[in-house]
Amino acid sequence: MMDEAELLAQERILEVRFHWSAGPYLGRFLGMLKEEGRLWVVRCPGCKRILMPPRIVCGICYSETPPFPKGWFPLSGRGRLLDWERVMYPQMDPETGTIRPEPYIHGTFALDEGVLFTHYLGPEDLDESTLREGLRVEAVVKPKEERVGKPTDIRYFKLVEEGDD
Ligand SMILES: [Zn+2]
Repeated sequence: MMDEAELLAQERILEVRFHWSAGPYLGRFLGMLKEEGRLWVVRCPGCKRILMPPRIVCGICYSETPPFPKGWFPLSGRGRLLDWERVMYPQMDPETGTIRPEPYIHGTFALDEGVLFTHYLGPEDLDESTLREGLRVEAVVKPKEERVGKPTDIRYFKLVEEGDD
């Protein structure tokens, strides 16, 4: 009879790269962001709310939304600051596995078309003491040659003077 086998183990660090399909609606949304630098949305034909990113079925009223371009339109990229937070805790960037430089300011914006959006508030040297609810903001989009079809194609939202947008 054989002795009970010793358990052997190998330690490996796996590098598993994969791509996932964004699908026709989110794929179009990201593709238009890359091509035009704008956020395209679709209006639900049932409850009339704006879906961002566009979805095939509205999560509120379950109406089907039309495929691009019917019912789709680009947002202005402008709105008002609702709230913000200074992120001080190191966090991993899920796209790169590296730690994001911090601190940075993350904001919630009420875009003029009635959509909420959260993103970085910049630039990096932004004086946080100047912030207050309701300030006008505008998306700062990377130049086309730097855009890759990800939300970070919008570098950040910046403050703009009332009436300058
Ligand atoms: Zn709906």
